[in-house]
Amino acid sequence: MRFCLLASGSKGNAIWVEEDGLAVLIDNGLSLAELTRRLKKRDLDPKRLVGVFVTHEHTDHIGGVGPLSRGHELPVYTSPLTFHACGRTVGNVDFCPFASGEKLKLGSLTITAVSSSHDAADPQLYVVRGNTGSLGVATDLGVVTHLVRQSFLSLTAIVSEFNHDLKMLADGPYPWFLKQRVRGRKGHLSNDEAAQFLIDVNHEGLSRVVLGHLSEVNNKPELAFEAAAAALSRGPGNPGLTVASQWEPTEVFEI
Ligand SMILES: [Zn+2]
Ligand SMILES: [Zn+2]
Repeated sequence: MRFCLLASGSKGNAIWVEEDGLAVLIDNGLSLAELTRRLKKRDLDPKRLVGVFVTHEHTDHIGGVGPLSRGHELPVYTSPLTFHACGRTVGNVDFCPFASGEKLKLGSLTITAVSSSHDAADPQLYVVRGNTGSLGVATDLGVVTHLVRQSFLSLTAIVSEFNHDLKMLADGPYPWFLKQRVRGRKGHLSNDEAAQFLIDVNHEGLSRVVLGHLSEVNNKPELAFEAAAAALSRGPGNPGLTVASQWEPTEVFEI
């Protein structure tokens, strides 16, 4: 199983997950041209895609879903409430209802939808299991619920939001209401909260952790990395650690 974060952050998100020549994309906030450019850069052929999974209706996750779905004739899997909230931003596509708690098999990949806490209609996270590994993607969540924590135990790889440094957010330029929104139970995870999440789900079989959805205003890659590295150094696992970028795809991770 392989995966690659093509983009991560408030200006666009897209994650490629593949096994045995069959791939799915989780979210697409990139234009079709930009997505195509980044896929080509990592030698990932969009012809291998069989579906797009949408976490929630914020533009950085769905801005490019419509053109991608129509251009490559891909079904769009998401919760009915989320699809309704996507409206014209996604437009006319082949919609396949896929709600939290449900499980779906595409080739050798099994995808599970997990309900999460964020200021959207019906936000959900995805866990993808294949023959050789498993990946959980947890971005855009204000709080790590018991359900999310349970769903992310025993995975081979985890993408976790490391959105903001608490001090940078507090001292930063955001207006008060926006600071409140980011900090709220339906906002985004701070470095400290995400570090605690990693402590809770770390285990010997965890081989890769990618830090994602970093705020460009309220965080720095080195702060997120330090917080994650300190948390993971407590063991028992010793996964490779990478900070994803808004502007360039990560390497293609094999798990
Ligand atoms: Zn987002
Ligand atoms: Zn969001």
